Amino acid sequence: MTVDLRTKIRAIPDFPKAGILFRDVTPLLADPEALAFAVAELVRPFAGHRVDAVAGIDARGFIFGALAARELAAGFVPIRKAGKLPYRTLSESYELEYGHGTLEIHADAVATGARVLIVDDLIATGGTASATCALIERGGGDVVGLSFVIELEALGGRDKLQGHVVHALVGY
Ligand code: AMP
Repeated sequence: MTVDLRTKIRAIPDFPKAGILFRDVTPLLADPEALAFAVAELVRPFAGHRVDAVAGIDARGFIFGALAARELAAGFVPIRKAGKLPYRTLSESYELEYGHGTLEIHADAVATGARVLIVDDLIATGGTASATCALIERGGGDVVGLSFVIELEALGGRDKLQGHVVHALVGY
């Protein structure tokens, strides 16, 4: 079964602020066949490899990441915005369009040498994804690759992830 995922991704102009074309995946999430297809495609290049954990990025990355972890029989590690995780954390700051954001991981979330697949809904500039790579590596893990439903190709996010396998299902 193949699903044209583009038909399940809605473009919302000027959200959350003027000038941003927001790629809304909620129609994809609501469609059982599209959701199953997207998750199968997210993990396909990594299915033959050992993956110990999937790291999902706050917040839509939790949805796809947890399903991908189940598909790979791997564990799940949440990468959260600052101040949300209750235990000891590692932090990484990254550039946003205005100012900076901070992501955190529990300091003990990744076992030394664990092989970790990073999952998010979308890669734009790649700042979020490269901060996540740094958190996994500082935690002692190895990044197996990164998998996204959507890639905003013109923003060149892949260039920030050189040396890593980057997989995306739909490009704009
Ligand atoms: P970046 O760090 O620039 O690669 O931004 C990626 C993060 O911001 C992801 O977690 C996305 O969910 C979110 N994001 C950035 N741009 C968009 C967009 N146009 N539509 C939906 N989400 C976006």
